[in-house]
Amino acid sequence: MLPEQSGCHGGTMNRVQQRINTAFDKLKATGVRITPQRQAILEYLIRSMKHPTADEIYKALSDRFPNMSVATVYNNLRVFKDIGIVSELTFGDASSRYDANIEHPHYHVICKSCGKIVDFEYPSLAELEQVASRHTGFTIDHHRLEMYGTCQDCERKKAAE
Ligand SMILES: [Zn+2]
Ligand SMILES: [Zn+2]
Repeated sequence: MLPEQSGCHGGTMNRVQQRINTAFDKLKATGVRITPQRQAILEYLIRSMKHPTADEIYKALSDRFPNMSVATVYNNLRVFKDIGIVSELTFGDASSRYDANIEHPHYHVICKSCGKIVDFEYPSLAELEQVASRHTGFTIDHHRLEMYGTCQDCERKKAAE
């Protein structure tokens, strides 16, 4: 069973479809060729909202594209990143995760047990950047915020043990 995507994605098809359209418009505008594989990778990223690794994308699409390699997935992710329709999340371990939710500023809650990453939207931490800048003299250009805990599924599993 798929874990319930809680919270702010809305879960409506319209929003997902809109996201897909916006992403493809950007792709087209940059003149990047849209191959069936490229299209499938991008759609998977947007629909899944699970911040998958390149390996997970590869596995999810290998039935449809038996000839596709992991390297192809990586190449496409790099293209998406360069265009700015996908962002890469690194957590200090070997595999990056990829995020196609770029239209809204959002942060991540990460489950320590199963590694699930869920988005939540929060207006702005511009004030915090100002404080950091004032205290350190740095010009701040971006920030990251991650929250760690236990997801509902893992809590339930723990309770059932
Ligand atoms: Zn979990
Ligand atoms: Zn995200």
